[in-house]
Amino acid sequence: MNAKLQPAPEPQAVSRADFDDLLVPVYAPSQVVPRRARGLWLQDQQGVEYLDLTSGIGVTSLGHAHPAVVQALQAQAEQLWHVGNGYTNEPVLRLASLLTGATFADRAFFCNSGAEANEAALKLARRHAALKHGDAKRRIVACQQSFHGRTLFTVTAGGQPKYTEGFEPLPPGIGHVPFNDIAAAEQAMGDDVCAVIVEPVQGEGGVLPASHEYLQALRRLCDRHDALLIFDEVQCGLGRTGSLYAYMHYGVEPDILTTAKALGNGYPIGAMLTRHDLATSLSVGTHGTTYGGNPLACAVAAAVVQIIQAPAFLTRVGQAAERLHAGLQQLLGDFPGLFTQVRGRGMMIGLVLDAAQQGRAKEFTRAAEQERLMLLIAGPNVVRLLPPLVISDAEIDEALLRLRATARRFLAPQS
Ligand SMILES: *Cc1c(COP(=O)(O)O)cnc(C)c1O
Repeated sequence: MNAKLQPAPEPQAVSRADFDDLLVPVYAPSQVVPRRARGLWLQDQQGVEYLDLTSGIGVTSLGHAHPAVVQALQAQAEQLWHVGNGYTNEPVLRLASLLTGATFADRAFFCNSGAEANEAALKLARRHAALKHGDAKRRIVACQQSFHGRTLFTVTAGGQPKYTEGFEPLPPGIGHVPFNDIAAAEQAMGDDVCAVIVEPVQGEGGVLPASHEYLQALRRLCDRHDALLIFDEVQCGLGRTGSLYAYMHYGVEPDILTTAKALGNGYPIGAMLTRHDLATSLSVGTHGTTYGGNPLACAVAAAVVQIIQAPAFLTRVGQAAERLHAGLQQLLGDFPGLFTQVRGRGMMIGLVLDAAQQGRAKEFTRAAEQERLMLLIAGPNVVRLLPPLVISDAEIDEALLRLRATARRFLAPQS
């Protein structure tokens, strides 16, 4: 069975400049080109070390190259890579069992990204309504400033016009209401609504937690109008807020939940979780994807979920988040005129820039890079932190030191 192993060719030398010559320019990456990483520490091509508070945008929650995750991938790579959905496989069955065992859901659909998970959720809602109500129930209610992915359906559900401009005509039947506004939601609801989609904590839109009352009101409105409540937990799920899924913290149960990002800790995978009575609306052949339930992805995700769902792990996330929030509050006080607010939940944190610093969030992350610290933004006025959930107390303190150095650099008069 074994072909004779050929030595791998020497890898070609590449640099950041190649990006501009070779890639479709939808990103503007940093000049830093990471080469290798362990835990929270990332090394660039020159061997310079950075402390990562981004988790690759909420993905590597267990840190880079977590031993149990590496082990799961390597073990599966020796067993079976892919069979296609004409066959099921052991890892997908184990992962489905883990996710349904840990949540409200008893059915799972697997795909490759957050956008695909939301695409499946929205398609399920439309189809379920079509089967139950004919064509009288097509409308979807979403929130302004929300983010649900980049397929045409999900980008239209997302409430950020800058992401849909030039891609028209957009799929019809999707309306937007202001986030956390109960009266606006009441006004927008009707019997023609098949689904409401919401992020329990808005991520890209500025790190804004929903209020308890808001999610409760959405639940009540969906029940009243026989609409499905979809929670997009692609960013806020899997321990990020301190509970396995954010809905558990709120005590409001959705009909459909989407999860991705941290699910594979860097190996692409997404999932839509729902109940049996709804799942049957997607019968054989009505939806699917080649890689959905891929054994490699599912073996990795099962290792991730097993670690994150442990009560002791989630308790530690809460403690770490408290220490970080306390340090950030202190930073706020020590640098007046920089940030006005630390907001978010658990390890999903937004630092809101003072009016005097409007539009400078990206600049702040560039200054942080000079201090060997990696940060994110959420819009032009919010610096976003999504630290790996495995961050140690020593790493939290080091991050706070580097944030202070960044603040001094950022506020220093330009010479
Ligand atoms: C990142 C994100 C998505 C999209 O996920 P992709 O894997 O990039 O398709 C959807 N919803 C939320 C809340 C996200 O943060």
